[in-house]
Amino acid sequence: MLDKVIKNDNRVSIYQPEQPGLIFPQIPTFDTFEAEREYRKQHLVAAMRAFALHGFDYGFAGHLTVRDPERPELYWTNPMCIHFSQVKMSNLVLADHAGNVVEGTHAINRAGFVLHSAVHEAYPDIVAMCHAHTVHGTAWCSTGKPLDMVSQDAACFYGNHAVVGASAGAVAVESNSGLSVAAQIGKNRAVLHQNHGLLTTSRHSIDDAAFWFIALERCCQVQLQIEASGVKPQLLSDETASYSLKHVGNDFIGWLHFQTLYNQITATQPDMFD
Ligand SMILES: [Zn+2]
Repeated sequence: MLDKVIKNDNRVSIYQPEQPGLIFPQIPTFDTFEAEREYRKQHLVAAMRAFALHGFDYGFAGHLTVRDPERPELYWTNPMCIHFSQVKMSNLVLADHAGNVVEGTHAINRAGFVLHSAVHEAYPDIVAMCHAHTVHGTAWCSTGKPLDMVSQDAACFYGNHAVVGASAGAVAVESNSGLSVAAQIGKNRAVLHQNHGLLTTSRHSIDDAAFWFIALERCCQVQLQIEASGVKPQLLSDETASYSLKHVGNDFIGWLHFQTLYNQITATQPDMFD
């Protein structure tokens, strides 16, 4: 039974389950920037490995970013032409808003990175962001329609996702549309970018940005299967969807879901720490 979440400095930092004495993940706090940077980079790499496990790669497309804790105007991201499954601590890249590499030996995909930099620059409170060209996300995004509230999982995006219209679909998609995405994202967790793909953001961690991306792709898959079946789904009421968002769709729950993936990936892919 979930007890309560204590918010500290806008970050959910302590979670108290009604299971005293038993192991239950909690978001750590840090005494130094170095320790927090190490944690953010490790979880960023794990998020990329998770994207590989889910088949979210498409050539060099797709980027994940997390702000540096000490220099929040800079972002850690994946290196150009390195498969998500081969990203590791030592080949992460630190870049600025303009796409200049500040630290690291690899280049980045600047045309794609501007999508991230436009969002990060417009929203200083967005800590992390994920974007990829996934099969089901791209398919559903082509409709230009939001998700229906067909399930508890879909409700994690209730009033919390935006559909950004047809500025996409051309060459250099991201560079042309970063500003329009940034203008419309607002407080939303996710964007369905028509004729392009999905993106998710977090004001807290790369963990929950990555998990909600995985969840969003799955919601798009479910929505497509419902549409293809021809059945008319019963939708959640606004009240139920709102309740579900609050209780099973908050940022901490996203972080918590991701710990399952983090534990599995770090146990089976120790080279991510190289
Ligand atoms: Zn893209």
